[in-house]
Amino acid sequence: MDANRAIRSPVIRNAFPHSQHSSFPFLFDRALVILAEIMASTSSFLPSWPADLAAKGWDQLDILIISGDAYVDHPAFGPALVARWLEHHGYRVGMIAQPRWDSIEDISRLGRPRLFVGVSAGNLDSMLNKLTAQKKVRSTDDYSPGGQPGLRPNRATVVYSNLCRQAFPGLPIILGGIEASLRRLAHYDYWSDSVRRSVLFDAKAHLLVFGMAERAIVQIAHRLNRGETVDQLTEIPGTAHPLGSPRQWKHLAEASSQRPGDGKPLLLPSFEEVRADKKAFARMARLAHAESSPYHARCLLQPHGDEAVWLNPPALPLKTEELDRLYRLPFCRAQHPSYEKPVPALATVRHSLAVVRGCFGGCAFCSIAEHEGRIVQSRSPDSILEEVRLLVKGKGFDGTLTDVGGPTANMYGLRCKNEALQRVCRRSSCLHPRVCRHLGTDAGPYLHVLRALRKVPGVRHVLVQSGIRLDLAERSPAFVQELAQFHTGGQLSVAPEHCQSHVLQAMRKPSIECYERFARIFDNASQRAGKKQYLIPYWVVGHPGDTLADVVELALYLQRHGLRPRQVQEFIPTPMSVATAMYYTGIDPSTGKPVAVERDLRRKRAMKSLLLYWDSKHWPMAREALVLAGRSELIGVLVPKGPRKRR
Ligand code: SF4
Repeated sequence: MDANRAIRSPVIRNAFPHSQHSSFPFLFDRALVILAEIMASTSSFLPSWPADLAAKGWDQLDILIISGDAYVDHPAFGPALVARWLEHHGYRVGMIAQPRWDSIEDISRLGRPRLFVGVSAGNLDSMLNKLTAQKKVRSTDDYSPGGQPGLRPNRATVVYSNLCRQAFPGLPIILGGIEASLRRLAHYDYWSDSVRRSVLFDAKAHLLVFGMAERAIVQIAHRLNRGETVDQLTEIPGTAHPLGSPRQWKHLAEASSQRPGDGKPLLLPSFEEVRADKKAFARMARLAHAESSPYHARCLLQPHGDEAVWLNPPALPLKTEELDRLYRLPFCRAQHPSYEKPVPALATVRHSLAVVRGCFGGCAFCSIAEHEGRIVQSRSPDSILEEVRLLVKGKGFDGTLTDVGGPTANMYGLRCKNEALQRVCRRSSCLHPRVCRHLGTDAGPYLHVLRALRKVPGVRHVLVQSGIRLDLAERSPAFVQELAQFHTGGQLSVAPEHCQSHVLQAMRKPSIECYERFARIFDNASQRAGKKQYLIPYWVVGHPGDTLADVVELALYLQRHGLRPRQVQEFIPTPMSVATAMYYTGIDPSTGKPVAVERDLRRKRAMKSLLLYWDSKHWPMAREALVLAGRSELIGVLVPKGPRKRR
């Protein structure tokens, strides 16, 4: 819509009736011009304001999406992706991003939608977004305009859901996004150091969509649209729902069975049991992780007092052509023009390509498999090239594709070679403890895509910045050669994580020797390419199994190899990962054996300081760590004995 036309339009005049009676007509007219300009540029975004609805001539939305992130219309932003997918299926969808939570005014500004309201905390768990591993408040929020913190509430899923209930009594409330997905069962919450109920109960929502939502959310919309009630939507794969009284679930619990393959639901230890007994918690974690395949998972039932949560099996992964369709949707690939400041997370993804979904690595500290699934899904080369041609024509593209990846870049195009076996396979990782012989590990499809991207007119550099699996990469010297030659901007980040074999075993990561072999291959490849390039290895401290003594060994390893990390990560127990179950219980759920866990925040800071042994800022704490570890003899070896003398 043209701005001058918009200012005269009755839609805008009616939306702001007071301006016509104002004693400052000029100021109000100026404000209307600005509003009209915003409207002119927002016409391709989904409606966020009453005037957007009016401009489309809609009197009511079908579906309203509430998001804890700023509104960025880009496929890397989950709420926007789901909203566009629903729009593609014929629904009128609106988006309210980062609403105020002290009243229902913001959340209700587009009116009551016809079918349901979808609630997401955004791309990250709201507690992880807000607090660090040391439980300190983060100074920025990459998913907010200008990186401004404090624009979403703690436990945003629960807060928004409660607001929606007040604003739209009786309307179905559907939870989705990472926060809801990973808190679908009773779970350990690091930030409150407590076991919490399934988020369904705190949010008092009707349904929860876990994992990637496309299949489930469209089924929900279609069935509500056909006149079914939300209470009838009890068997959609990828959803969970509450059972509010013993009458609704006792008979299901009685019919349950602990034997896989008999088609009966599996009864998990109750919320009360897992809260009171760490062994019961570890058992719940083992059972829930074992039932995560969309091909053979059973329904899960977990009592919470008189209520219970029912989980259907995960939804089937999207096929290549479905993924392609998703990425072809008319995303603006921009933040909403009403924001004055840039949303930092957009800068990271603006000129990058997500080509793969899911991960079969099974790292213990990562919940990607619990959310995106273990079955890797890849887009077609045509779809990727189509997106690149759009990017090249778009505003601000300087010739560099900053990433071509996903959770693990070099899993693109890989799959289990034995489809029948995959349908019954119960391994939690195709790579750990060793690469499965049924896994296709040919890097050819990924190389094919990278080569095609390098030839696109207007593309000068194609970088790979997503993580790569070293145990896969070392099997393909051709891939490492091209990676070093064309796709590394001088530095390549890799994640060996640790050097101690029992710690890597607890993490379900490959051995340090694998990293060393890869480093040699990469170094040779860089030399052949005539380039001086470096690996930037990531190290983690405080993972279950990792003690102060192990970190001393890791620091000595780094020193021996001349490695001076600039950043060291502290393990954060996020909901639902295997490592979080270990952290909370001190038990490895898969073996039932005890695992050493460091919970003291100061000792964890000391661990981190040890790995930063070369930086004088960290020497006092590193010395303290060596004393605590009973390794005082290393003071003077790993770090100097005292502060540097001033000259
Ligand atoms: S059989 Fe092997 S490759 Fe196939 S799904 Fe199982 S672990 Fe993965």
